[in-house]
Amino acid sequence: MYYEAWERTRELREKGHTDWRYPYRKKYFFTVTWKKAAIKHRGTYLKLSNRRGVKSLELELPEHLKDAVIHQVQLVWHRNGYWLHVTVERPALPEVQGDVYAAADPGEVHALALTDGEEALVISGRLLRSLARLRNKELRKFQRAISKTEKGSRRRKKLLAAKYKFLNWIERQMEHILHAISAIVVRWCEKRKVKKLFYGNPSGVREKDCGRKHNQRMSQWPFGWLRELIEYKLKLRGIELEKKEEHGTSGTCPKCASYTKQSGRVYKCGNKDCGFTGIHRDVVGASGILDVSLNGEFTRGRKLPEKVVYVRPVARKVKQRKKAA
Ligand SMILES: [Zn+2]
Repeated sequence: MYYEAWERTRELREKGHTDWRYPYRKKYFFTVTWKKAAIKHRGTYLKLSNRRGVKSLELELPEHLKDAVIHQVQLVWHRNGYWLHVTVERPALPEVQGDVYAAADPGEVHALALTDGEEALVISGRLLRSLARLRNKELRKFQRAISKTEKGSRRRKKLLAAKYKFLNWIERQMEHILHAISAIVVRWCEKRKVKKLFYGNPSGVREKDCGRKHNQRMSQWPFGWLRELIEYKLKLRGIELEKKEEHGTSGTCPKCASYTKQSGRVYKCGNKDCGFTGIHRDVVGASGILDVSLNGEFTRGRKLPEKVVYVRPVARKVKQRKKAA
């Protein structure tokens, strides 16, 4: 396994692909795949057969996969240990028979603002943001401590193990919240009979460059992760998601269509003859994405959603984590 990966690297480098690096630890390349014929399971008992002469693997499945139809199992090295990736068949979901178009505007303070023109939903991003901050803060602490240790030392190994444990833990928490947010989005789309959701770029990121610190903060907010999750879940229900690269959607006035850079959470038009204000900036953003997507350009005096609902994703109770390092 290791030998193969190495040979491939040399070949590619000789062809000029210098961005392809040599594997520096063989375990990173060690992924084992079992196809359907090699998988047997009854209840939570899972048996993975290997080629002749190699002992088969017997494992305990988590409770929620008890009755699942398993198509593939992979053993994958991730960070500090092996993870079992189980591909299961999803029961078919009833597809939404809608004809409504909606738009979503992702942001940091509010994870997402949605509108179909009639109603708007604003989902809080606070929980996710605080986890992203904790992740970065702890990671910096680990890096600082690790940099003071010697390569190969016991202290370093201990610190690395603690770092991986922390990363695995916090990313699971983030994933849980992302699932909660995407579930809210799916429920809303089903209820509103949405056929297609236009999905914008994250608010704030597309409009300005706010320096290194701001950019770093934004880049670590898991925008892409959330979008992929929503896209996947909507697709299962026959709802399409289309990415939109529109600029200035949250800064464009819904009344006069002039652009004003926004600094507060409530939209304020800078055009003296207009002065429109009073609605949430992210709702203006989502409404702008919908407007441009359907009409090709911003409409003057566009209709804004009459009702705005605010929700907070609910997190599962998390066990207190022991202080690491
Ligand atoms: Zn205006």
